[in-house]
Amino acid sequence: ASSRVLNFGAGPSALPASVLEKAAEGLLNFNGTGIGIAEISHRSKEFTAFVANLEFLIRTQLDVPPTHAILFTQGGGSAQFSATVLNLLARHRLLHPHLSDDERVMDYVVTGSWSEKAAEEAKRMGGSRVNVAVDSRKYSKDGKSFDNIPPHTEYAFSPDPALIYYCENETVDGVEFSHKDADATSFPYHLLDKGALLPLVADYSSSFMCRPIPHLSDHAVIFAGAQKNIGPAGLTILIVRQDCIVDVDAAAQLGATPIPLTMSYKTLFDSKSLYNTPSVLPIYIAGLVLEHLAELGGLKYYEQTNRKKAEKVYEAVRKGEEKAVLQRKVQDGAGSWMNVVFSVLGDGAEQRFIEGAEKEDMKGLKGHRSVGGIRVSLYNAITEADTDKLIGYIEKFVLAES
Ligand code: PMP
Repeated sequence: ASSRVLNFGAGPSALPASVLEKAAEGLLNFNGTGIGIAEISHRSKEFTAFVANLEFLIRTQLDVPPTHAILFTQGGGSAQFSATVLNLLARHRLLHPHLSDDERVMDYVVTGSWSEKAAEEAKRMGGSRVNVAVDSRKYSKDGKSFDNIPPHTEYAFSPDPALIYYCENETVDGVEFSHKDADATSFPYHLLDKGALLPLVADYSSSFMCRPIPHLSDHAVIFAGAQKNIGPAGLTILIVRQDCIVDVDAAAQLGATPIPLTMSYKTLFDSKSLYNTPSVLPIYIAGLVLEHLAELGGLKYYEQTNRKKAEKVYEAVRKGEEKAVLQRKVQDGAGSWMNVVFSVLGDGAEQRFIEGAEKEDMKGLKGHRSVGGIRVSLYNAITEADTDKLIGYIEKFVLAES
């Protein structure tokens, strides 16, 4: 473990070393069964108990009410771009069987490249009309970047849509909704029709379990790939309100698109997420990570720590701006806690920044190829001390370049 470097990568990303050491034991012998976790039957009583405990750990730490099921599946966030559409269009079909496809509207809030991808997938799948409720590029400094959360006045939601979609944290662009209700950059829950059961869908892939989820019970579906805060890739976590677990075959008989059984929330729910072989090893590591999280003090602890980490890094970048060495890519109030993105100004300076960091055993800092620059990912496994080490490096770099 001593040869490990600090990994600021955006995902898959760092996991706590102590958890990985425990997982290594489980690979050889899972919970005293004498069988390794990658070898044991997913229907064994030891593994099914482990899955039930994973659900319990998420439910208690995130305060998920009994109105919502917690389900485990595969296919990552991307599979949920399709599954949310299919399941919620089936629900809408059952609620409103006589509407034409054109009258079945899905609202997408586009604030970054992941929500854009999700909206594109919804358009591909047809069976409804996609309404881009807002596109944040319109409010950007250069007219084309995802660098902000749009003003609340600019959202145009449809009446009675089949779904309303947003991505809480845009991993590539480093843009995130504030989680304080009164903020200008929060998600505008107050604009939504609270009389109805909202078909509100949120992609929490890169911010799940980094702090509490505001208005959780108003959501129809919250989904997250595990490979940032929770564990290895291969596990997708879903929080689904009961009224969104619908008889998809009955909907298909009324004209909705038939849904592959493995993507149907009803299949997952009825089988307690064990319809087919689940991603056993990622589930195991996710369980260990969440036990570790609970031991450290749960989401309260992480919310405080993650706030501090992000504030410190943004402050270091701000100081670098004063010296004309660094430049934030994201506007005030919209900066992500999990992914801080900025540019390094000057010829070859970005490369110098990355190479210098690697010499000090800090990796994973290169921005996404679509936006360039530097991206510092501060997921839960990055401690405050790790963050301080990076900040020390940033300060030294700024001094040398200015
Ligand atoms: N949504 C967000 C916010 C993401 O960060 C990612 C992946 N980085 C995805 C969706 C896609 O996830 P996956 O690669 O698991 O399909």
